[in-house]
Amino acid sequence: MVKVTQDSRTAAALPVDNQDSGEDSESLFRAIFEQAAVGICYSDFAGNFIRVNQRFCDITGYSAAELQGLNFAEITHPDDVEVDERQGNKLIAGRRGPYTMEKRYLRKGGGIVWVRMTVTLARSQSGAPHRLIGVVEDTTETISAQQALHASETRLREAQRIAHLASYQIDHRTDQRNWSPELFEILGLDPGALDAPTYDLFTQRIHPEDQELVARTLANAIARQQNYDLAHRLLMPDGSVKWIEVRGRSSFGADGKPLRSVGTVQDITAAKQAEIALRAAKDSAEKANRAKSDFLANMSHELRTPLNAILGYAQLLETGLAGPLSPQQSEYLKDIKAGGEHLLHLIKDILDLAKIDSGRIGLKLEDLDPARVVGAALPLIERLAAAKGISLRIIPPSQDRVLVRADEVRLRQILLNLLSNAIKYNRPGGSVDIGYGPAIDDAGYLRISVADTGIGIPNDRLSELFMPFSRLGIENQAIEGTGIGLAITRQLVELMAGKVGCESKLGEGSTFWVDLPLARTVAPAQAAAEPLSAASIAAAHHQILFIENNPAHVRLIERVVAPLNWLSLTTVHSAALAVSALDSLAPALILADLGDDEQAGTEAHRRLMELAAARGIAVLDFGANALAGGSAAPRGPAEQVDIPRLLREIVRRLAAPRDDDGDPAA
Ligand code: ADP
Repeated sequence: MVKVTQDSRTAAALPVDNQDSGEDSESLFRAIFEQAAVGICYSDFAGNFIRVNQRFCDITGYSAAELQGLNFAEITHPDDVEVDERQGNKLIAGRRGPYTMEKRYLRKGGGIVWVRMTVTLARSQSGAPHRLIGVVEDTTETISAQQALHASETRLREAQRIAHLASYQIDHRTDQRNWSPELFEILGLDPGALDAPTYDLFTQRIHPEDQELVARTLANAIARQQNYDLAHRLLMPDGSVKWIEVRGRSSFGADGKPLRSVGTVQDITAAKQAEIALRAAKDSAEKANRAKSDFLANMSHELRTPLNAILGYAQLLETGLAGPLSPQQSEYLKDIKAGGEHLLHLIKDILDLAKIDSGRIGLKLEDLDPARVVGAALPLIERLAAAKGISLRIIPPSQDRVLVRADEVRLRQILLNLLSNAIKYNRPGGSVDIGYGPAIDDAGYLRISVADTGIGIPNDRLSELFMPFSRLGIENQAIEGTGIGLAITRQLVELMAGKVGCESKLGEGSTFWVDLPLARTVAPAQAAAEPLSAASIAAAHHQILFIENNPAHVRLIERVVAPLNWLSLTTVHSAALAVSALDSLAPALILADLGDDEQAGTEAHRRLMELAAARGIAVLDFGANALAGGSAAPRGPAEQVDIPRLLREIVRRLAAPRDDDGDPAA
């Protein structure tokens, strides 16, 4: 703390305590002594004050009279006494000249005052040293400013250390650089072992793979007189890699050359590593998700094939074609069918969710009349509603009929989900209202709403509604469900650029709504309903040519037809075989999956259709008329076969007169 320096002034130049001087010189001396802007004190060689001026009293807070009886050590900070004393003794002994030191006085009444004191020796006229003279300047303010600067520098250094943020300045004209201590730290350099920071010290740390990028970015920033901001790697001597972000700005001379640059260098290794780890985690999560979707898709396919066989045979038994059933067997059969259908439904939902999740669902967007799609969905849930005594009501749209842009099959699936929920979670004898209207917050949308009078949904659980496998706490109740339906519904609606939502009052009911984008075209006048032909089959024998390569379907249909003595079935695996069998068989009906591109896209198929049309042979689309979901449904070899519907259609085709296309005439 205490600094002592050699004073260049000599003792001889100082005023002396001259007992023998005349009155004039004494009063002159007194005036100078008293009015001096610095504190002055005389003391004997033991350090006892003999005489002090007013300024010295001001600095120490003591009066001249009080100081008279005091020793310098009594008012000096204990830490500074020894140095002062030692230097004083050397001075007295003639072993050193005058000295200057920074020291602290203890002010009267408490507090410390920093002073710069120069001590010299006063000699008597005989030339013998006999007093010490101290000239004292109050430096408290300077010292506290220095201390404040020091403290703020320490704080800055500390902040830079914590933030791993360093700073630099460059004077390009002198190539002088100033680095903050943290920059040395980041670069792994010891500032004590270096003359001065240089650009090379920095560049030699840049990772070899980033050297070119750094050079190019820097050259660009200078050429365009722009700020510099770049994150890159450093390769440390121990082989480790650090990431830093450097931001700099420069001032430029008229010649376009940089004059001065200032900037920051931040060690962002931790953040970068976290980012890299996060990206890796995201990649592997996505991979795992894809693997999960693939697994689910495969599994549900594997599960559906045997399940379809179970359901198919159950249906076959139900038709009575395989022989009569006892009432109890019929009951068992109902349970088998109900269980199988539930399972099939669940598998279908899981597969759907997996497909949507992995982005493998293809939508066919077209302009649709929503009322027609609702109309097509209603018959599928009428039985469910009737069983609970629930009335289904359609509130007609208030505006002119409009078309929406949607995928028909998927829209029907959405409506069926909402309608079956509205029935499932309703009270016996309740109602379900289906309504249309403009979307509340978007003029380009139509809102279809399904309102029920059911159990309602607690407000605090509304947010979970559309999450997969969330059943909102009703898991333990008797109402069957999986919690997937609404998750699929939302994903499908969003894939069609629509929105879905719900308002609900606990115990009173819920209204689910779907907003779908309006189509640009206008609805055509509704076509007249197709009259159903109430025909019966002629007593004749009918030959059916079935083109199918799915063995499960082939086996099932063959067993369905076997007991029917008015039908014979011949199965071939391809359209080409069908063409060659056509002459010898002369079938009344061709049954083929027209929605299956593999079958329908071939040249042989085109030829078969031509021949069928020319010879008046009816063609029935197996996909559209026997497989669940109809012709527009996504196809898989394990689609469920709807035997009653297929038989109904076969009968219809065989009985109906045909138009030129081979289709039954309207
Ligand atoms: P699931 O009906 O198979 O459980 P959903 O995804 O269709 O699955 O529905 C999720 C949950 O939302 C249901 O379990 C039920 O708690 C609640 N929910 C859906 N629709 C209604 C409704 N109309 N009224 C009351 N609660 C409903």
